Amino acid sequence: MKDIRHWINGALADGDGRTADIFDPATGQVAGSVQLASVAEVDAAVAAAVAAWPAWRDASLVRRAQVLFRFRELVHANRDELARLVSAEHGKVHSDALGEVARGLEVVEFACGIPHLLKGGFSEGVSTRVDSYSIRQPLGVVAGITPFNFPAMVPMWMFPIAIAAGNAFILKPSEKDPSASLLMAALWKEAGLPDGVFNVVQGDKVAVDRLLEHPDVAALSFVGSTPIARYVYETGTRHGKRVQALGGAKNHMLVLPDADLDLVADAAVSAGFGSAGERCMAISVVLAVDPVGDDLVDRIVSRVGELTVGPGDDPASQMGPLITGAHRDKVLSYLDLGVCEGAKLVVDGRRTAVLGGATAQETPGFWLGPTVLDHVAAGSRVHTEEIFGPVLAIVRVSSYEEGLALINGGEFGNGTAVFTNDGGAARRFQNEVEVGMIGINVPIPVPMAFYSFGGWKSSLFGDTHMHGTEGVHFYTRGKVVTSRWLDPSHGGVNLGFPVNG
Ligand code: NAD
Repeated sequence: MKDIRHWINGALADGDGRTADIFDPATGQVAGSVQLASVAEVDAAVAAAVAAWPAWRDASLVRRAQVLFRFRELVHANRDELARLVSAEHGKVHSDALGEVARGLEVVEFACGIPHLLKGGFSEGVSTRVDSYSIRQPLGVVAGITPFNFPAMVPMWMFPIAIAAGNAFILKPSEKDPSASLLMAALWKEAGLPDGVFNVVQGDKVAVDRLLEHPDVAALSFVGSTPIARYVYETGTRHGKRVQALGGAKNHMLVLPDADLDLVADAAVSAGFGSAGERCMAISVVLAVDPVGDDLVDRIVSRVGELTVGPGDDPASQMGPLITGAHRDKVLSYLDLGVCEGAKLVVDGRRTAVLGGATAQETPGFWLGPTVLDHVAAGSRVHTEEIFGPVLAIVRVSSYEEGLALINGGEFGNGTAVFTNDGGAARRFQNEVEVGMIGINVPIPVPMAFYSFGGWKSSLFGDTHMHGTEGVHFYTRGKVVTSRWLDPSHGGVNLGFPVNG
C-alpha cells in the first residue's frame, strides 16, 4: 500500500497522522493513503522555503537555467514512470498520461529560457546624462494548488517558471492522485535544486486555508473548480496576496453547415471522451447548426461504438474510469436528468462493455462509458452545468448567431471551437466569442507553453493567465531604475518636479 508523505526541505516528511485514502479507479480498491497536512506541517514547509529563498534568488540566471535544463532531462527520462503513477491513481490511459507529461515538459523547456525572459528594458539618456532601466525580481515564497485531472501537467504550468524566476515554491497537489508530486520533487533534488526551494504539502482544505492566510506566502496559483477558485481568489487577495485562480469549464464546439462532418465527428469524440471527459478543455457541448444535426449525430454514434473502454494500464484501452465513485455517481445523475429535461439518450455509457466484458455498471471500479445526449435543450442543466465526465450533449441550433449567443450567454469562458471551411466565418467567431482559448477546426486549443493558458468569466479569477510571458510576470515584480552618475555639471538644489531636460 502506498504511503504518500510531504516533501519538505529536500526530504520526505511525516505528518500528524490525518490521512485520506487513495484509490485504484479501475478496481475501486484502496491503493494507499495520503497525509493531510495540519497547519503546523504547512508552516514547516513555508519556513523551509523562506530559509532557502535568499540563496536561490541570488543564484545567477545561468546557474538557475542549468538546474532547469537538468530537471528537463530527468523528467524526460522518467516520463514513463511519471505517466504510470498518474494513470494508476487518475485512471486515464497511459498514452494520455504521457501526453500530459509532454505538455508539462514544454513549460519546463520554456522556463529554461529564463535569462532571456527576464531581460528588462534600457533607455539611454532619458534626460541629460540620465538613464532608465527596468528589472523584474522574484516575489519570495509562492504556492500552487492543483486539481486531480492533470497531476503532472498543471503543477508544471506553475513551478518551472516560478522557480526559474528565483522564487521558492510550495505545491499542494490534489489529494486524489498525489504520487506524481513526490517523483517530481525527487527529480528536482537530483537536478541540483537546493533543498527547500521546492516543497510539497499533501492535504485538503486545511492546507489550502493555511497557505491562503500565511504571511510569508506572497502569491498563489490555483487550478480547480469554479466555487473553490472563487474562494481562493477572494480569500488570498483579502490577505494581500497575488492570486491567479483558474476555474471550471463548459466548452462548446460550434459546427457550421459547411464543415467536413467526418473531421467534426472525429474531433467531437476525441475531445469529448479523451481522459473520460475529465479535462478542463474537453468538448462537452456540440452546437450543430441546421441542417447537419442528424447526419453528425449518426457519425458520432458510430465512432463511439468503436471505442475501447478499459483500465489505464491496458494498451488496448482508449478511455479509462472516472476518478472516484462519488464523482462517477454525480456524472451518472446527469443521464437521467438529461432525459427528464427532454433530451434523447442515444448512447448510454452505463451499458458500455469494459474491455469487451461486463457492462460499466456491473464492473467494480468507477466506470461509466461514453454517453451521448441528443436534442439537449438550450439552457437546460445538462447544457449549462459542468459535468466533467464522458457525457457529450448535442444542442441543435438554427444559425451561427444562435450558437454564438449560447456560448456567450454561458457562465464559463475557458475554451471553444468552431468547425467550418469558411475563413470569414471563423474570423468573425474568433472576434465575437467571449472565451479565452479558441480553436478553429481544433477541438482542444490548449496554448503552447510560450503563449498563456486561461479562460474568461467564471473560468478565471484574477487577470493573469498561466505560463508564457504572463506566467513570468505573475511570478515577478517590476522595478524601474533611474540612474545618473554625477559629474560637476549636475550641481544645485531644485525643488521643482523632475522634468526631462
Ligand atoms: P477542486 O476544486 O475540487 O480541487 C482543486 C484543489 O482545491 C485541490 O487541490 C483540492 O484539494 C482543493 N480543494 C478542494 N476543496 C477545497 C475547499 N473547500 N477549500 C480549499 N481547497 C479545496 O477541483 P478538482 O475536482 O480536483 O478538479 C476538477 C476541476 O478543475 C474541474 O472543475 C475542472 O474544470 C477544473 N480545471 C480547470 C482547469 C483550467 O485550466 N481552468 C484545468 C484543470 C481543471
